Amino acid sequence: MASVRLESIKRRFNNVTAIEDISFEIPDGEFWVLVGPSGCGKSTILRSIAGLETVTSGKLYIGDRQVNNIPARQRDVAMVFQNYALYPHMTVAQNIAFGLQMRKIDAKVIQERVMTVARSLSLEHLLDRKPKQLSGGQQQRVALGRAIAREPQVFLLDEPLSNLDAQLRDDTRAELKQLHQELEITTVYVTHDQVEAMTLADKIVVLNRGRIQQIGEPQSIYSQPANRMVATFLGNPPMNILPAKFTGDSFDVGGQVLPCPDSVRESLRPTGGQGFDLGIRPEDIYLNEPPRRASANDGFPAAGDWRRQERQEMRELVVEVKVVEPLGRETLIRGGLPNSGVMLNIQTGANVRLHSGDRLSLKLDLDKLFVFDSATGDKLYS
Ligand code: ATP
Repeated sequence: MASVRLESIKRRFNNVTAIEDISFEIPDGEFWVLVGPSGCGKSTILRSIAGLETVTSGKLYIGDRQVNNIPARQRDVAMVFQNYALYPHMTVAQNIAFGLQMRKIDAKVIQERVMTVARSLSLEHLLDRKPKQLSGGQQQRVALGRAIAREPQVFLLDEPLSNLDAQLRDDTRAELKQLHQELEITTVYVTHDQVEAMTLADKIVVLNRGRIQQIGEPQSIYSQPANRMVATFLGNPPMNILPAKFTGDSFDVGGQVLPCPDSVRESLRPTGGQGFDLGIRPEDIYLNEPPRRASANDGFPAAGDWRRQERQEMRELVVEVKVVEPLGRETLIRGGLPNSGVMLNIQTGANVRLHSGDRLSLKLDLDKLFVFDSATGDKLYS
């Protein structure tokens, strides 16, 4: 096992810069997840570590060894892709043993290692089967087994669960986590699935447009996202972003008034009329009162009238329910601020009975408020 260190890695494809100024160090034995939207450069980083891409500039180390000019097969890494690509004519046992046989390892040692790996992945009863006699999840476990059996210094996994159905993905994800706890092989895992990132990672690297946005432990990235992109990428449903104008001592959000907490005012020193994006997570919004059923002539006041709300109501926003999604343990509500086009997700209890068209008064926990620069997405306050 070994640490993995990237120093200012850049990869250009003709005039496309796929990744730029990528630097991080994964300590020996840790599980790091690279996450970000499609095209952000995750696979390019992984393939560069594997030696399947040549970086344009920067230094790459596995352990103390600089590997920029070392071919893939001599880097002592094992890679598992989304398509497990097992050898169809070989049995499970032969597939797992393949890498070891290529290295001319003693047959008895190979047999023992195949058994150990098969046990750790619950594959013992399948060793004599061919890949086409296995389910997708079993095939993916064989691909993992084949990589593990080689006992690489570094494990590189590129969306290894994305071909599995939801239940199998959850099960295999848990197995993978357990396996890493047992083997402690340094692992770099690429996914665009934020649940995989949150549940598997010691540290998450969030990427966007070829650049690192934030590196940190899952919970700290969730609670202290560095900018609007990170805030809206991790979390399902994502953080709500409410375009707002600062009007002196409060924000105007879609024509409604939200007080600007003193701490926000002090740290922002905003000038009147300035635009911001306010961020609040769906779980930090509460229903203020039983919902009112909509009726035909019960129209909303025009935008602007909300400014006349009583001061004690000013942490509140009124929304019209658009979609209600009961999920058993909780209910997700998607609502819109009247006459404004601003949409909002709210996460609430299981027993809430709501319908499209109902109107709700919401209380926002302003201690959990984020403020972002609406142009750059930089975090100005949290
Ligand atoms: P996905 O989640 O869709 O697989 P990704 O985050 O893994 O995306 P990469 O595959 O690393 O993204 O690609 C990063 C950028 O580099 C993209 O804009 C992509 O179009 C570009 N790119 C990747 N490979 C090449 C190539 N061989 N030639 C030109 N551009 C490339």
